[in-house]
Amino acid sequence: MTQGLKARRSADVLIVGGGIVGAACARAFARQGLSVAVIEPGPVGGGATAAAMGHLLLADALDGSATAQAEHGLTRRSLQLWDAWLGESGANKGNAEAAELARCGTLWIAADKAELGLALRKCAWLNERGISAEVLGADALARAEPMLRPGLAGALRVPGDARIYPPKVAARWLNQARAEIIPGRVVAFDGHSVHLADGRQLWGAMTVLCAGLASQRWLPPGSLVAKKGHLAITQHYPNSITHQLVELGYQSKAHAVDSDSVSFNVQPRPGGQILIGSSRQFPKPGQAEDEQIDMATLQSMLAHACSYLPALAGMNLLRCWTGQRPASRDGRPLIGAHPEYPRVWLATGHEGLGVSTALASAELLAELSLQAPPTLSPEPWAPQRFFAA
Ligand SMILES: Cc1cc2nc3c(=O)[nH]c(=O)nc-3n(C[C@H](O)[C@H](O)[C@H](O)COP(=O)(O)OP(=O)(O)OC[C@H]3O[C@@H](n4cnc5c(N)ncnc54)[C@H](O)[C@@H]3O)c2cc1C
Repeated sequence: MTQGLKARRSADVLIVGGGIVGAACARAFARQGLSVAVIEPGPVGGGATAAAMGHLLLADALDGSATAQAEHGLTRRSLQLWDAWLGESGANKGNAEAAELARCGTLWIAADKAELGLALRKCAWLNERGISAEVLGADALARAEPMLRPGLAGALRVPGDARIYPPKVAARWLNQARAEIIPGRVVAFDGHSVHLADGRQLWGAMTVLCAGLASQRWLPPGSLVAKKGHLAITQHYPNSITHQLVELGYQSKAHAVDSDSVSFNVQPRPGGQILIGSSRQFPKPGQAEDEQIDMATLQSMLAHACSYLPALAGMNLLRCWTGQRPASRDGRPLIGAHPEYPRVWLATGHEGLGVSTALASAELLAELSLQAPPTLSPEPWAPQRFFAA
């Protein structure tokens, strides 16, 4: 029997979904000497990954909540792994260039005195943990980013944050993992194998479900929710902004579990394009998620961006698009064993931080599934929490 299974094995690890999380998992297992196959119905790095901004950011946990603390730990570990990968030498030299890395840092913009107070508290919290951050007053902010509107109170600068282009990274990780890409859509699992929509069956020692929002099919109802986001990109305007610019209230808006919002969040792209975000929308009751551009939301997002960066109003937009963030019901990704399918592991539900946290998620999943001591506590992410007793 074992002999028969071995002969039919497609790869040691079958990975369902070739987004940034699936690609990171492929890399993590390949680094342990295992062969990986990635089953993906569309392009590698499609899905939410193709829609993302590619901002690699550190989440703070000043509010002291358990979710924020866990998220801080996951982003912090992941950024360490990103730094290591981006700086790799030898055969992997060139990762930073391939990823279109820019060490732009983040400026968390404080609009008024109250927000400047928050910036100071966040700065102290980060510095106490050995993380480089500084507060810029109004004049220093105006010098750092002259296009911002006058009258802002200042900003928290986190220089370690960066920007990359996620689809290219996903493709490179799969390439470095020597992953076999199998075009197809998974419709079922049965312990040793996965079944594809076209009737094929693939065999592996374990399956890792990284299908983003589509993972919902194998989870209790309502575990994942689509948070739609709009983005727009301008034509080339060299010498405009140099940092990722985000309003200080962004994190609390992003954590909202039931209300739509727009935030000021813009990024300098190569050649002077400006990527403008962002919005968060939940599907209306009784309606399925859709990819349509919602003109009212787009207009409100752009007007909000212009209120911080007035010069945007005179720039031409090249393209607008939407993406669906795969959000879990409690705002924490699901990383760990699937409670109902033997040998099936989950890495999904990363909402708006999936690019930043992909590497630490993959590291943790590989450690848990291969019974190695975990670098981070697995408890906050355990999928079991969504499976009622
Ligand atoms: C507008 C927007 C901006 C964002 N900006 C950022 C940012 O700046 N920084 C950040 O860290 N994160 C950001 N995110 C979040 C990030 O993009 C996601 O968390 C991340 O891409 C999720 O990756 P994933 O691999 O889980 O899902 P996906 O990228 O959606 O990949 C899932 C893959 O699974 C495949 N699939 C689906 N069903 C099946 C099936 N049955 N069989 C096989 N394969 C299947 C899909 O085709 C897809 O390729 C943003 C998201 C959006 C929408």
